[in-house]
Amino acid sequence: MLTHNLGYPRIGSQRELKKACEQYWAGTIDREALLRTARQLRHRHWELQRAAGLDLIPANDFSLYDQVLDTALLVGAIPARYHALIDGKSNAELDLYFAMARGIQREGVDIKALEMTKWFDTNYHYLVPEFTKDQTFYRYSDKPVREFEDARQLGIPTKPVLLGPVSFLLLGKEKEAGFHRIELLDKLLPVYVEVLCELAQRGAEWVQLDEPCLVLDLTADEQKAFGRAYERLAQEVPRLRIILATYFGSLGDNLPVATALPVEVLHLDLVRAPAQLPQLLAHEAFTNSYKVLSLGVVDGRNIWKNDYAASLKLIDEAVAKLGPDRVMLAPSCSLLHCPNDLDLERDEAVLTPEIKNWMAFAKQKLHEIVDLRELAIAEKPLDECPVLVQNQAALESRQQSALIHKAHVKDRLREVPAVDLRRQSTFPIRQLIQGKKLQLPLFPTTTIGSFPQTAEVRQLRARFKKGELTTQEYEARIEQEVFDSIRWQADLGIDVLVHGEFERNDMVEYFGERLSGFVFTQNGWVQSYGSRCVKPPIIYGDVERPAPMTVRWSAFAQAQTDKPLKGMLTGPVTILQWSFVRNDQPRQATAFQIALAIRDEVLDLEQAGIRLIQVDEPALREGLPLRRADRPRYLQWAVDAFRLSTSGVQDSTQIHTHMCYAEFNDIIDSITALDADVITIETSRSQMELLEAFANYQYPNEIGPGVYDIHSPRVPGAEEMVQLLEKALAVIPARNLWVNPDCGLKTRGWPETEAALRNMIAASRYLREKV
Ligand code: GLN
Ligand code: ZN
Repeated sequence: MLTHNLGYPRIGSQRELKKACEQYWAGTIDREALLRTARQLRHRHWELQRAAGLDLIPANDFSLYDQVLDTALLVGAIPARYHALIDGKSNAELDLYFAMARGIQREGVDIKALEMTKWFDTNYHYLVPEFTKDQTFYRYSDKPVREFEDARQLGIPTKPVLLGPVSFLLLGKEKEAGFHRIELLDKLLPVYVEVLCELAQRGAEWVQLDEPCLVLDLTADEQKAFGRAYERLAQEVPRLRIILATYFGSLGDNLPVATALPVEVLHLDLVRAPAQLPQLLAHEAFTNSYKVLSLGVVDGRNIWKNDYAASLKLIDEAVAKLGPDRVMLAPSCSLLHCPNDLDLERDEAVLTPEIKNWMAFAKQKLHEIVDLRELAIAEKPLDECPVLVQNQAALESRQQSALIHKAHVKDRLREVPAVDLRRQSTFPIRQLIQGKKLQLPLFPTTTIGSFPQTAEVRQLRARFKKGELTTQEYEARIEQEVFDSIRWQADLGIDVLVHGEFERNDMVEYFGERLSGFVFTQNGWVQSYGSRCVKPPIIYGDVERPAPMTVRWSAFAQAQTDKPLKGMLTGPVTILQWSFVRNDQPRQATAFQIALAIRDEVLDLEQAGIRLIQVDEPALREGLPLRRADRPRYLQWAVDAFRLSTSGVQDSTQIHTHMCYAEFNDIIDSITALDADVITIETSRSQMELLEAFANYQYPNEIGPGVYDIHSPRVPGAEEMVQLLEKALAVIPARNLWVNPDCGLKTRGWPETEAALRNMIAASRYLREKV
């Protein structure tokens, strides 16, 4: 029973890779220094895995930026706009690589980066390969070979990991019409054959080919492509033992496809989809073959300790059917999505020993895999195995901890009546009442919440956190910021003001810090894209709101002005989506607990005289399950969680929501079901094309399509915004149309913010005159 790892986090426990990359980009270190850091990290991670006792250790799981981009370079899928950067010099590869990742702008050169998108349903983002109809492929990069050799020189035989050819194509995008990217497979395969043969020649025994697309809904042609690809690899690369890795879900209807492939090992994610084990074991084409099953039993997507007893059940089931030699043990997916090392969490005031004892980060998970093998082949009775006893004690402590379980929270959730999910009246009635109360002009102007987070504001928060400012000093300084921003907004002539979010570091962390049931780590960084890392909050227990979280700031802001002020909250689905979530209850139960806390906050804001309240849900779409069949259920509870947070208010209180992403077509009915009085969305980059979804669906409530892109410092003129608004007016009734930027302004500077908002107000006034 071999143990293996699918991939290790590469950023480094101190984010060494992030720092080195950013220094290289800034020109403060040279290529050699960057590559030295990268090599040190790889060496450290290989040594760590060897020390843990794993049988197969991955190579080429390392990446300077992204593993999909690595693959594009490996196979020479380099779009034409970068060809000028290919000059045959050995150091050109690095600059080409980063140009594709980040774009380049220097004297006379201005080349856009590849598009970036989310890696399945994780918070990791990959660079999207671009394909043309007459696309050719050739071996451009040596990376897998270099890294394999690098490990071999350390005396560590490794299992190179490559993104499989079919998933590589499916994850990319056609850049012109008239073909489907899967048709490129036959041209792509020779490059894979070449690379794999070279690895085999150099002594690689195993290779892991990742085909996570096997857990998606596939067309018949896409399914067939797998057969074509792997038949050919089996024929032309006979010496390598291929591990075909699937993860993030169940094979489902692709199970017969996957089991028919001529590979030696099939890896399944049994954390996300444990039910596929009995399905596979009942599948004779697999069980009657010689093939090995790799069981992904240790969660690569979360930070909880493995339940050894539960995993052993799965392992025993597989061993009973296949025998121990045909079973391998692994994490469910690459550990890329886990923080590095729990041992670095030393501050007991941040993470108490009790809670820490429930967790395992990437390094700890390696040991879990090895422990599980020891237990699975143990000769003595399991209750005499200390690792099992300790593991079960930790789990029991978690199951019973008073820190986690709060009867009154669970009771309240159980007793939520259906009416709590509905506003008192329908939207048309609310619109009349709100119109009378708020007395807003046509095309009211507002912003999405945050204003520029200047260095001073960030420093203020940091100094307060370090204890260098007293609460009183800190709050006085933030009050001053809020006061100034209210004055400034009123002077500009914005209709609905916001307080500016100066007290918030992050829209989820701020709330997590004020809700019970959340903990934070000091070093729990996870790569989000390139050098960007996030440190997600950890939801470990029943969620409750010990005290109001934002009322103080919104009430203060409202007291400075007669104009209506919009309170600003993050919604339950977004808080859930951007955290590590407990795995001892369904996600939806956690979402509802958060929803109740937000509901209380909404009601307190209303009580404090706040007449408009925005509940942001930018992550609602991200939560969509990978399989279409699972989506309606998710959307149902996600919508319910939002409604539970927002429906407690009077008809006269106006509920806003905000979302920033580009696809609404397939979820427009759920967006409508949120029944927010006003929704603001990001639309300017698509030139209002996005609005079509709302128009086609005859979206009934009010809507603020963003009139300018906040991602760049560019200040669009008023005419440009008028044009966009006129486009919007063609499909949205005038009385339903708001005027606002695409998203919050916290990454912008004040000068461009002021200039752009002035133009935005001018655009709105111009239209008021005109209609
Ligand atoms: N209210 C938040 C802000 O303005 C919304 C951010 C977001 O949508 N991502 O910053
Ligand atoms: Zn946004």
